[in-house]
Formats: sequence, C-alpha cells, structure tokens
Amino acid sequence: MKLLIIGPPASGKGTQAEKIAENFELEHISTGDIFRKINDEEISQHLASGKLLPDELVFKAVKEKLDEKENFILDGYPRNVNQAKMLDKFLEERNSKIDYIIYLKVSEETIIKRMTSRRTCKECGKTYNLITSPPPEENKCECGGKLIQREDDKEEVVRDRVKIFKKITQPVIDHYINKLIAVDGELSIDEVYEKIVELLNNQS
Ligand SMILES: [Zn+2]
Repeated sequence: MKLLIIGPPASGKGTQAEKIAENFELEHISTGDIFRKINDEEISQHLASGKLLPDELVFKAVKEKLDEKENFILDGYPRNVNQAKMLDKFLEERNSKIDYIIYLKVSEETIIKRMTSRRTCKECGKTYNLITSPPPEENKCECGGKLIQREDDKEEVVRDRVKIFKKITQPVIDHYINKLIAVDGELSIDEVYEKIVELLNNQS
C-alpha cells in the first residue's frame, strides 16, 4: 500500500503517520526527517540560505528514500501539485501509483489555538503545549528552565502559515480527490487513528 498523509501544521499528522506505518507495516517517509539528516551539499546549501527548495531538489531527496519500496506512507510530500505530478510520474514508470491520501481536516481556529499554545524551554529545548501537554509548573520546564513562545508560534506567523498551507495544498487535495480519505483532525489522537484504520480497512 502506498499512502500520502496531508494536514495543516499542528494537525498531528506526524504522529498519525507513525502509528499507521506501524499498524500496516509501511515505511514512514517524512520529509522533515529527511531534511534534518540530509547529506546532500546542494540541498544543505539551499536549506541554510533559508530559501524555498526547488521541487526538483526536494524530489531528488524523496526519490532516494522511495527507491523501490512497495509499502510506504509519505508525510510532508507532495506540498504542491507540481510535486504531486512528479511523484505520480515516477510511480507510473514503475507501474505503480498512490493508493490513498489521508487528509486530516482541522479548522483554522483550532490550528491557531494549538500552535500559539506551544512553549519551548530556553535551556533544553523541550516543547510543551499549554492545552495538550502542559508543563509541571507554570512557565517552567521540568529541567527548571524558563519557557518561552518561539517567534514561529506567535499568532501572526501561524496565521500566515495556515494561509500558505491552504493556498498551496488545496490543489494537491483536489488532484487526488478520487483517492481521498478525509478524517476529522479535531478528534483526539486515538479517535483520529481509529477512524483512519477503519476507513483504510473498508477500502480494501
Ligand atoms: Zn528544559
């Protein structure tokens, strides 16, 4: 089975991808992980410059991971329709295709609430969420360090990210509309996971 998982920031898609990968014995391929460990000079330079990676470069890295894998769940890719087309073509040449795309639907307000509730320890970098995983003591990490709100987690920045996500990703969802499995991402982690498993089992 070849799956894609797509969802806005803070939709919990990384967590779900991991659980699905384990349950269905799929390789979890996360572009976040790939780029954190990347060894490719051209890509590293781009990342360091803060510029957006060209689609060709992103796909080069993803392709290496996909290789000849029969079963995988791709998390964080494709991010736009051009990338989706590159992926489709690559699979087509191998007489293969994406089976389903799992879409975690979360409202803008929920995303904003989840993301602006994030706090990071100044000392050790541990992250908390005031709603879902609060710190042991107000504004204090378990290590004793002070908790701060990162620039990235401030409301204005988050709103911009959500807007960009919608604009770029909606066409990807439309592109795969016949393979779409949409799940209410506002539910708890376990409920979302159960729903996905149920829907996937019903498909086959
Ligand atoms: Zn700490």
